[in-house]
Amino acid sequence: MVKAINKLRHKFTTHADGSDALLFVHELVGEQDGPTIGISGSIHGNENAGSQTILELFRAIKDMPLKGRILLLPVANPRAFAVNHRFTPLDELNLNREFPGSPRGNYTQQLADALANNYFNELDYHIDLHSGTDRPTVDYVYIWNDEPLSRAFGSKCLYRPVEGKEGTVYAGTTKSVTMDRHGTKVVTVELGGGIVDQGPYVERTLNGLLNMLRHLGVIEGEVKPNPKQIVVTELVGIRPKHGGWLEPLCPANGEVIKGGQLLGRVVSPYDFEVIEEIPTPFENGVMIMQHLTRNVVEAGDYGFMVGNLEGATD
Ligand SMILES: [Zn+2]
Repeated sequence: MVKAINKLRHKFTTHADGSDALLFVHELVGEQDGPTIGISGSIHGNENAGSQTILELFRAIKDMPLKGRILLLPVANPRAFAVNHRFTPLDELNLNREFPGSPRGNYTQQLADALANNYFNELDYHIDLHSGTDRPTVDYVYIWNDEPLSRAFGSKCLYRPVEGKEGTVYAGTTKSVTMDRHGTKVVTVELGGGIVDQGPYVERTLNGLLNMLRHLGVIEGEVKPNPKQIVVTELVGIRPKHGGWLEPLCPANGEVIKGGQLLGRVVSPYDFEVIEEIPTPFENGVMIMQHLTRNVVEAGDYGFMVGNLEGATD
């Protein structure tokens, strides 16, 4: 059984309104020794499917036999989460580009530093949950430095970046001396989002996390076999040039899209003319992210993501 559940509140600074800036972590300590697993959500404040899933995960595992320790960080960037905003409202910075942060930097850099030195440094494995925002819906998993763990989440599409992205959780993890000492394994999950019921995505994320925990031997039970998976190394984001109604025309996420097919089109909400048709960028691609409903977009908003199947592997 879980030996102890502790609510850890690490204060790293004070807000001007007098409130404490906190990292709020649930520590679940198993009766048997094992690795320390961190699971975090809402590094981007408008991607709350991960935070919802961490709530469900806590409910699911709090009475389970556990080997090791699980540190749940449901909301990594509370100020951004509270206003459903990608960036930290205090300085408009992207937390996932500021790692490993700085203790005397601006607010987001202080938050990044607090996460690096009071959370990431504890972890043997870190699973960071992202999703689409409240507009697009996304579905893939990053392969950073533990491919079997990334695959165990069970998504059809995986992405192996050719270069680490500067300032991300992963780059921060591998750069920080304290974290490098631990050789932390990192997985970034991208699943859910959009103006659609998040229930099925939360359920898939929960099942994926439970399978990862079984794979690591932290909870009991048989590891589910992976579905047929595809690993892409080229992923392109396509933004509409014009604002208006973005109407999706593409196949579902995880499905193939052939050259010449349209991802979608932008229609004027005013005179109803088609302003822009958006073609897929590859001869042979796979859908990774899209809007599932007719959404209002501004010029240059997140539109679609397509993976290149040329050079992709199983
Ligand atoms: Zn994100």
